[in-house]
Amino acid sequence: MENCIFCKIIAGEIPSAKVYEDDDMLIIKDINPQADVHYLLLPKEHYANIVEMTDAQAQTLAGCIKKLSAMVDELGLKDGFRLVSNKGKHGCQSVEHLHIHILGGSQLSENMA
Ligand code: 5GP
Ligand code: ZN
Repeated sequence: MENCIFCKIIAGEIPSAKVYEDDDMLIIKDINPQADVHYLLLPKEHYANIVEMTDAQAQTLAGCIKKLSAMVDELGLKDGFRLVSNKGKHGCQSVEHLHIHILGGSQLSENMA
């Protein structure tokens, strides 16, 4: 998708700190971390959010999360983590390419909003 910053990162047109890549997804470090460990899981296929997601994209995303679950130790998340996907204005989504924030590395707040 033209003018999508995450599509440009996936295409290698914008540099990023990649921690994992396969045919379906990229995991990168967030440029403005909100926790000691803050990654972004980016599906390679462009769609804006979970409301726009097709059944096939949902299946792929589920597979990505399953793969993530096998990597938590090496990603520095062995004591736990939080997955967040912001959608729309109330969710404060700023990049319209679905992404899952992966937060952890130390004790997170109980307050999620
Ligand atoms: P949102 O607000 O849409 O849920 O999250 C977008 C996230 O993307 C933010 O946490 C922001 O720091 C991150 N981000 C924005 N631009 C870039 C970039 O160019 N590189 C990386 N690695 N992260 C980015
Ligand atoms: Zn995109």
